[in-house]
Amino acid sequence: MASFIESTDLFDMAEQHPFSDVHFWRDPETQLQAIIAIHSTKLGPAIGGCRMINYPSTHAAMKDACCLAAGMSYKTAINRLPFGGGKAVILKPPHLTDRKALFASFGRFVESLNGRYITAMDSGTTIDDMDVIASQTNHVMCTTTAGLASGDPSPHTAKGVYYGIKAAVKFKLQRDSLVGLHIAIQGVGNVGYALARLLHEDGVKLTVSDPNRQATERLVNEFGVDVVSADDIYSVSCDVFSPCALGQIINADSIALLNAAIIAGSANNQLQTPDMITALTNKGILYAPDYVINSGGVLQIAYLNKPDVVQHKLAALYDTLLDIFIQAERQNSSTVAVANRLAEQILTNSFAGANHE
Ligand code: NAD
Repeated sequence: MASFIESTDLFDMAEQHPFSDVHFWRDPETQLQAIIAIHSTKLGPAIGGCRMINYPSTHAAMKDACCLAAGMSYKTAINRLPFGGGKAVILKPPHLTDRKALFASFGRFVESLNGRYITAMDSGTTIDDMDVIASQTNHVMCTTTAGLASGDPSPHTAKGVYYGIKAAVKFKLQRDSLVGLHIAIQGVGNVGYALARLLHEDGVKLTVSDPNRQATERLVNEFGVDVVSADDIYSVSCDVFSPCALGQIINADSIALLNAAIIAGSANNQLQTPDMITALTNKGILYAPDYVINSGGVLQIAYLNKPDVVQHKLAALYDTLLDIFIQAERQNSSTVAVANRLAEQILTNSFAGANHE
């Protein structure tokens, strides 16, 4: 799976990065400009969060939606879940006047797709927004009571990342315990905070960065972390670098700075371009494929009301990732290539073009 799309032509994009369909919705009364990309519904209805952030252009928003939708297909496939992959993006209005009206309109957009796409929380959206969406459609997760009332997936995502870090440490450093290791976390929002708590409880030394001072101060007070600037987090000499903020942060510049044995974090689409995995491998850095290590939230949704199964599946991410690392070494391949092959085997025959099953 590529993590970028170069062309600006929609059907060229589909060549590079097959998707099923892309839907646009404009509602001037509520300021809503939204895009829903569906990558595959081969294994079931497409699930994927709705993010609302600033985009420099509609093309950038569409590219984000398409890349993220593909990641969701691979994520559900590799976990053998009965869901496909989709994603929604809302172009954040510069001055939003009525948040409820905007999300109600977005709910009508989701409803218009008749269940082909199920939406959820993502960057820039909240449980309250999901509740508003649920007033218009049942095809929504992460609500408090309506639709698929799974609440905030972040603690589960963090737990999955925690198991992924343990697997990477086992493989790369031959250690079962995290005690005394040094981990640098980029971004201590919902996932980063929950991850920091788990790592702190395991005796890990933590260095974090986040432009949100309140977020870093909370970690200083609760876990005694060190804080560095956004620019300095890459060069922290540590065992694990854990990106939990933004996509595309693994690029030529950051790889030159990285001083970690392992990259393992929750951010989606971490590699700026697919060839970054080669640069990481050449530098001897073990990379945990993002859509595998960050699948804890999806597992929670898939096994809603079955907390024991969720915990079991989260712990199983350790084995899935360890196996990917071992296979990559045996096959002299990259961890991303091995994970992609695994996911694609499960999605066999679905990528020849549009797949309106
Ligand atoms: P969030 O918005 O709660 O937290 C992100 C944090 O990153 C914020 O505190 C923000 O201030 C910080 N940040 C922004 N720019 C930064 C920079 N340059 N350097 C350092 N920090 C920066 O988001 P989240 O829910 O914690 O998700 C984090 C990442 O994990 C996102 O990429 C998201 O797509 C991905 N993810 C989240 C989940 C989930 O369950 N929440 C699931 C899968 C993937």
